[in-house]
Amino acid sequence: MKWIENLRDPSLLNRAFTPGSQSDEIVISNPLDGQQLCAITDDSAATIERVIAEAKQAQVAWAKQSAKQRGTLLRRWFDLILGAEDDLALIMTLEQGKPLAEARGEVKYGAAFVEWFSEEGKRAYGDVIPAPVNGRQLLTLKQPVGVAAAITPWNFPIAMITRKAAPALAAGCAFVCKPAVNTPLCAYAVAELAYRAGIPRELFALVCSHDAAMVGEQFCHHPDIRKLSFTGSSRVGKILMAQSASQLQRLSLELGGNAPFVVFADADIDAAVKGAMESKFRNAGQTCVCANRFYVARTVHDEFVSKFVAEVSKLKVGNGLDAGVEIGPLIDEAALIKVGAMVEQAVTVGAQIVCGGKRHGEIKSCFMPTVLVDVDHSNPILHEEIFGPVAPICVFDTVDELIAICNDTPYGLASYFYSRDVGTIWQVATALEYGMVGINEGIISTEVAPFGGVKQSGLGREGSHQGLDEYMEIKYLCMGSL
Ligand code: ADP
Repeated sequence: MKWIENLRDPSLLNRAFTPGSQSDEIVISNPLDGQQLCAITDDSAATIERVIAEAKQAQVAWAKQSAKQRGTLLRRWFDLILGAEDDLALIMTLEQGKPLAEARGEVKYGAAFVEWFSEEGKRAYGDVIPAPVNGRQLLTLKQPVGVAAAITPWNFPIAMITRKAAPALAAGCAFVCKPAVNTPLCAYAVAELAYRAGIPRELFALVCSHDAAMVGEQFCHHPDIRKLSFTGSSRVGKILMAQSASQLQRLSLELGGNAPFVVFADADIDAAVKGAMESKFRNAGQTCVCANRFYVARTVHDEFVSKFVAEVSKLKVGNGLDAGVEIGPLIDEAALIKVGAMVEQAVTVGAQIVCGGKRHGEIKSCFMPTVLVDVDHSNPILHEEIFGPVAPICVFDTVDELIAICNDTPYGLASYFYSRDVGTIWQVATALEYGMVGINEGIISTEVAPFGGVKQSGLGREGSHQGLDEYMEIKYLCMGSL
């Protein structure tokens, strides 16, 4: 528990530390070295039932407050998150592995959703609709859906919670969330700050369980949960969608991706290399918008590869708390085995390793940044989400061929391309079947723009003004005899 002494504010985690008997504990470990950080309570179905009932009750009073009152508390929460940046970033690096500088970036990114929705909640406008007959007034109102539930992943342990909690609370909903079992400490810390800001505990509740399937079923089958927001794999998203049919809950699903990163012959190659580094290696490749496969025009392939490999070889790998480290550990042993097997298989069918390709020599929880070339379009590594620091690079010749290859996937989350030709930019941007397109940019996520996918990458949008609508119902009022 030495690390807790390094927190300026150890009480941030007080509520999480309620370890019971061995059988109802969740042990949280550092993915770098497996060292146990602490244990929290494994919530039972009965506890979750009680939490939902309390949330339902709390939501009634919350919805009656004005959007401005709710916004004031959210704004206070935002200020507290920023004020706790050092502590939150330390907790994140320890339980999730990402380098401290990236963890700080996520704290700010996560806080930005709270700031955005503290303001956006005041703009939940309805419409006044000109009636087709005299003597009537037609209006629409936006009202909170009620109790919203969320299931969040480990790769962005703060931002994936604030991106859902902030619009839910701003809209007037109660919010019950199950964070990933690997990274609940960030969730408890950020929730503690919400309580200090004055947001009632019953209104914004966390539950944690080893038995994710049990929680998922409980959320989906509960008549008082009117909305479910999930970020995670397409596999689990499909399970939740099928389960939620029993209550016809509103759903937001942010699922897997298979992002292409394209470099056209006319691209600024140095800019493309910089964008590729940012897009591919953030969080050691463990984001759903990470570039998953690279397509480079034949005439610039060798130049791009040599400049890219030069940068990749400089990446410092290791303990995210050490100065200058840019690539931390993968989340667990299963992830390491999976990424290693994908590289091995890619090589078996013809790919060449230019750098990396294996684990770090001493720190076995880290996978070395890897570049693969001579990757054929049929290579399985191009058709699965890698979720690791591996960049497979292919060659392409024509724009039409390229668009077909990019769209040849069941996923449609993020995509990226580099070109300076306005005709190419428009043609490709409109043809890509993706929810998000980065054009001459490798990092595109921001609280002010809609984040989300098409096809099997999910439903709904988070952030932006659309993000608020996900937690509101439209009610139509038809007033007659006027
Ligand atoms: P990842 O591969 O990114 O961990 P998952 O979809 O497996 O993605 O996990 C994302 C979140 O979904 C985690 O909080 C996990 O506990 C939860 N989860 C996993 N399986 C289920 C399930 N059957 N029902 C509900 N939630 C689940």
